[in-house]
Amino acid sequence: MKITNLRLYPVAPRWLFLAIDTDQGIVGWGEPVIEGRAQTVAAAVNELAPYLIGRDPRQINDIWQTLYRGGFYRGGPILMSAIAGIDQALWDIKGKDLGVPVYDLLGGTVRDSMKTYSWVGGDDPQDESRQMKELKTQGWDTFKLNGCGKLKMIDSYRAVEQVIARVATIRENFGSSIDFGLDFHGRVSVPMAKVLLKELEPYHPLFVEEPVLAEQSEQYAILSRQTSIVLAAGERMYSRFDFKSVFEAGGLGIVQPDVSHAGGITECLKIASMAEAYDVALAPHCPLGPIALAACLAVDFVSHNAVLQEQSMGIHYNQGAELLDYVVNKDDFAMVDGHIKPLPKPGLGVEINEQAVIEASKKAGDWKNPLWRHGDGSIAEW
Ligand SMILES: [Mg+2]
Repeated sequence: MKITNLRLYPVAPRWLFLAIDTDQGIVGWGEPVIEGRAQTVAAAVNELAPYLIGRDPRQINDIWQTLYRGGFYRGGPILMSAIAGIDQALWDIKGKDLGVPVYDLLGGTVRDSMKTYSWVGGDDPQDESRQMKELKTQGWDTFKLNGCGKLKMIDSYRAVEQVIARVATIRENFGSSIDFGLDFHGRVSVPMAKVLLKELEPYHPLFVEEPVLAEQSEQYAILSRQTSIVLAAGERMYSRFDFKSVFEAGGLGIVQPDVSHAGGITECLKIASMAEAYDVALAPHCPLGPIALAACLAVDFVSHNAVLQEQSMGIHYNQGAELLDYVVNKDDFAMVDGHIKPLPKPGLGVEINEQAVIEASKKAGDWKNPLWRHGDGSIAEW
């Protein structure tokens, strides 16, 4: 079998789909994207195409190493996201060729269903209790919300009290009938993280995500010694080599590699295995589309330490399209009591409505995240 062509489709809300064609008519799909930099990742995929055309797509390991090591410079969000989407498409082709789901190629499932969680509250969090109540009636009992809006490097205690009051209200409304993770989203400085983690402890968040930016990852171990709250991070780390020092230093209870950002299924399986060796749980980051979610699930279903899967149904970013709009086999993605079953179809298990994707790509926008500024006009972390 030979790879004959690569096709890229930017689609709403902010996704980039890749189709890899073969001379045997099998098409593999991947999702190589960095949110807000879709065009840059598309350029990277196109630049890698000469290494792929004419290759046997089933030689996934050698192709991965070629793309990673063959260019001398490696790593980072753009290249690792390009490799990720290509890698997903190659696994999809291999599974379709052999007529089995990817998790079967990887030795079979270790669980019958995967627990997911739902986003509530939006960018600058509000209205979360009403949304939780509604989602709870649909079976979800685990949620994630942004811990705060913009926060200054050293902010007033009023800002801290606002964060705590919101979280206290959630506990008042739901008691311990639900769990929720708080995403600090890299908005919180090291000194403010120390304060917030202490104040949040009585409200038992399931985890705090990106308590500080990945650039400050040496702080995870220090912060974890000061709090009983489980710390999670990893969406802005792009390979085993980025995770290595974090595992060695300790501090994270959950790692959240993004299967569309961190080298794809091939690399994220290895990150998951490293995490298992350190007794760290896995919760792949996935605020993206259905191919990315299917790739995450392929990793989850063969990873003993996978505890939670993010999914983007109803997420505040999904303007102009929803998670399953481009999917034919929507029923396979049914989330019952917040759990999803292994996708039964060969390959990644997602059947893409190619015509819908082609049509959508003709009018795709170019999503950018909002730019936030503090009251004094300086740039705020979003
Ligand atoms: Mg996050």
